[in-house]
Amino acid sequence: MDPLKALADAERKPYWLDTPARPEPLPRLFGHTSADLVVVGGGFSGLWTALLAKERDPEQDVVLLEGRRIGWAASGRNGGFCMATLTHGLANGLERWPDEIARLERLGVDNLDEIEATLGRYGIDCAFERTGELNVATEPWQLEGLNEHLGLIADLGLDHVPLDRDQVRAELDSPTYLGGLWDRRGCAMLDPARLAWGLREACLRLGVRVYERSPVRSLEDDGVTLSLRTPHGVASGRRVALGTGVFPPLLRRLRHFVVPVYDYALMTEPLTPSQLGALGWRNRQGVGDSANRFHYYRLTEDNRILWGGYDAVYYNGGLVKPEYDQRDETFTTLARHFFATFPQLAGVRFTHRWGGVIDTCSRFSAFYGQAHGGRLAYAAGYTGMGVGATRFGANVMLDLLSGERTERTELRMVKEKPVPFPPEPMRSGVIQFTRWSIAQADRHEGRRNLWLRALDRMGLGFDS
Ligand SMILES: Cc1cc2nc3c(=O)[nH]c(=O)nc-3n(C[C@H](O)[C@H](O)[C@H](O)COP(=O)(O)OP(=O)(O)OC[C@H]3O[C@@H](n4cnc5c(N)ncnc54)[C@H](O)[C@@H]3O)c2cc1C
Repeated sequence: MDPLKALADAERKPYWLDTPARPEPLPRLFGHTSADLVVVGGGFSGLWTALLAKERDPEQDVVLLEGRRIGWAASGRNGGFCMATLTHGLANGLERWPDEIARLERLGVDNLDEIEATLGRYGIDCAFERTGELNVATEPWQLEGLNEHLGLIADLGLDHVPLDRDQVRAELDSPTYLGGLWDRRGCAMLDPARLAWGLREACLRLGVRVYERSPVRSLEDDGVTLSLRTPHGVASGRRVALGTGVFPPLLRRLRHFVVPVYDYALMTEPLTPSQLGALGWRNRQGVGDSANRFHYYRLTEDNRILWGGYDAVYYNGGLVKPEYDQRDETFTTLARHFFATFPQLAGVRFTHRWGGVIDTCSRFSAFYGQAHGGRLAYAAGYTGMGVGATRFGANVMLDLLSGERTERTELRMVKEKPVPFPPEPMRSGVIQFTRWSIAQADRHEGRRNLWLRALDRMGLGFDS
């Protein structure tokens, strides 16, 4: 199938946001307002923080300021894999916090269970399906990686099922598969935009005052109150939580730790019953392949396939720009890989193509902290796995702001910071060389060059 033909009519916008169900924006902030807690950012980080703050103390007054529209950024345009992991996967967590891994895995599963319970409690319909995730190997060297931690996985009580070639192809039929590992409980599929809008609605029901199209331009501290200035108003609070992702931060120090990495995705038209039948896929798992440059893919509620990943692009200079949301070279590559994986789908067309920006940090999992004498908290750096983990990060921010010591605040993962990226222009050079090295490793049976091995030894890397 010619990838260009399959892409010819694809709209250049995120599929999830392209629906009449998208709610009208809420009013901008005009004039001065004050609150006990002001949350900045209307992605999952900010929404969960506002919601959980109200659940903890319904009496406190909470304001949320979103610069554009709720869920317009990463939160409304991602793959919708809502993962239990808080550490960008077990292997990364094990590498960095081996002594905490059992606790981190348990906290992650609890977090996912609580997300599921919250959806039920507020009646949020975001097509949540706890199907788990199927990790597949498409090259012999990847099989070893899949099976590396099986003993530990069993000891941790996680429900993972190893699958040989025939078994994995019975779950989902691709001639490229050599084996797989099905994590049956640690991941759910959902519609991320509907989750964001549902959280917005739940926040409003609990009395959070949400302002959209109200970008915070500056933050001032008079020693007691923090004041956040938007184009038409000011919100003052005793406490502030930042859930601003990868965007130019209100706290300068965050610049050193987070870089914008662009990730791209395609959406097909709905599959017919016979096309779906040709795949199997009865259990509807999310799927990830196991190269360093990996694809992720899944079914939607109406049986389209979302197909994304592979290229994780850092644009030299590290800016966030609307024109970076489209990258034809990557869309063509993704389409080519799609038909190589599923030749039985020749003739299927794509309806949407889009990109989005990820807040990557050098340890691949979020970091947390405080400023302004403990009155401001932040969480950032989710590196492509924040759909579920942002709820945990929101709880960490609220713990930190309350001054309480909790199981979460005592974690090394929470207390430690990632290694900062060097400043530009060195930053671009280092990242592009690392991206090149990663691509080379995939071409040479996973063998990592001297540079990647040195980074591994220092616990550093680049991922999406
Ligand atoms: C293409 C793509 C696919 C992905 N797939 C997955 C996946 O399948 N599973 C997964 O777990 N993760 C995935 N991710 C990552 C995931 O989407 C993010 O980790 C998560 O959404 C981060 O949420 P956030 O609220 O921190 O950031 P964002 O969603 O980026 O929200 C930040 C918000 O803050 C607002 N803001 C910033 N600065 C200001 C300011 N000064 N004033 C007011 N508002 C401000 C922005 O307007 C924005 O709305 C993917 C990301 C992309 C781009």
